[in-house]
Amino acid sequence: MNTFLNAEQEALVSRYRSYVTESIRPLAAALEQRSHSLKDVLQMLGHEGFLSINVPKEYGGQGNPFINLCLFIEQLSRVDAGTALAIAAHQAVIELIVQFGTSKQKSRYLPLLARGECIGTFAFAEENAGSDYSAVQTVIETNNAEDVSISGKKTWVVNGDIANLIVVCGRFEKGDGQPSRLCLWLVDRDDKAGINVFKNRNKLGLRSASTNDIEFSQCKAASDAFLGPIHPKDASDDKDANEQIMRAMDIAKVIVAASAIGLLDEALHKSVEHAKAREQFGANIGKLQAIQWKLADMSAESSAARFLTYRAAWSKDLAQDEFCKFAAMAKYNAARAARLHSGEAVQIFGALGLSDEETLEKMYRDAKMMEICEGTSEIQKNIIAHEVGA
Ligand SMILES: Cc1cc2nc3c(=O)[nH]c(=O)nc-3n(C[C@H](O)[C@H](O)[C@H](O)COP(=O)(O)OP(=O)(O)OC[C@H]3O[C@@H](n4cnc5c(N)ncnc54)[C@H](O)[C@@H]3O)c2cc1C
Repeated sequence: MNTFLNAEQEALVSRYRSYVTESIRPLAAALEQRSHSLKDVLQMLGHEGFLSINVPKEYGGQGNPFINLCLFIEQLSRVDAGTALAIAAHQAVIELIVQFGTSKQKSRYLPLLARGECIGTFAFAEENAGSDYSAVQTVIETNNAEDVSISGKKTWVVNGDIANLIVVCGRFEKGDGQPSRLCLWLVDRDDKAGINVFKNRNKLGLRSASTNDIEFSQCKAASDAFLGPIHPKDASDDKDANEQIMRAMDIAKVIVAASAIGLLDEALHKSVEHAKAREQFGANIGKLQAIQWKLADMSAESSAARFLTYRAAWSKDLAQDEFCKFAAMAKYNAARAARLHSGEAVQIFGALGLSDEETLEKMYRDAKMMEICEGTSEIQKNIIAHEVGA
């Protein structure tokens, strides 16, 4: 019993757990090997209502708090954290449109995103702009009164091969000799020329989520498809875009934190079962203090990571200024705990932990990824230090 949740949320956790066990667990290995379509799974999740949990009701969502989405992600990640990463990118787009979109953009995209009929992603990073978005070089320039044209190459775009809607971060060229301004633009992928998606990058973990480079070559987008309070041609600095990037990343970070605690909980559960069953030297390994302490550390640190993650989600739901700080803390702490203790879970399983007969090796690979994706641990520490006034 998790006493930090109300009875309704406890019931949701049970429902989420049953659903992922019955519907996603059987697909997890095929998703990891990319022999089962992630797009089909996301569409199925959309159809079942798991992508609309916190989308406002007036746009076809359920209007539930963000923490409910985190509870779903936690349960999903017991089975496959890669699918959770794909949802993190999708949800970041939903959040950007909810917070910064016009009513036309909201009515057009949110119902589709909520149903999984449109898959979203954000394309911020470039070869020379990873942690540092101010180095983005993608150019957005006015074509005519109706259109802008986007040129540049993005990298590590989650859902890059399946997304219909891409939020592109670029520099708006006013064409008046003034410095360009960082901004975010909605690119509706359907019927668009000038978008070249490169093949999925092979990576250590989170393999069911695709990560693609995308090249935009004079790609046209509507002039009013920018996100934010004022048209970038009227902006005087990068302030608005920085704010939007942070908001998108905060959401994605807390989703990754929720994913990390779900993964860790599953690793703990499996480790306890193995420790109780495995005998060496005529005795159960679970009786050894060396093993018990690993399990104790895993349990204590996963509980601490869970409370911090829920704290971050609550501060989002309560619209607290502290959300940014708690999002960074949750992501940093949960990803670290997941990497450390999924490694200890492998150790408890011995050679079996290294084999793909068990899912421990996958969890270990997935957990390491969480210290880098959606902002590295070092960047989270910079944010926390800044937020505490250092
Ligand atoms: C699985 C995955 C999914 C991703 N999905 C997306 C996506 O959907 N869209 C998107 O736009 N991007 C995405 N990214 C890109 C991701 O945002 C970047 O990889 C991340 O921000 C780090 O950038 P980098 O890899 O270029 O590392 P770098 O920025 O080159 O950093 C290298 C090292 O230097 C450290 N470092 C850098 N600057 C500082 C500093 N100021 N202080 C302390 N240490 C520092 C970093 O912490 C890191 O250890 C994804 C990445 C991964 C791995």
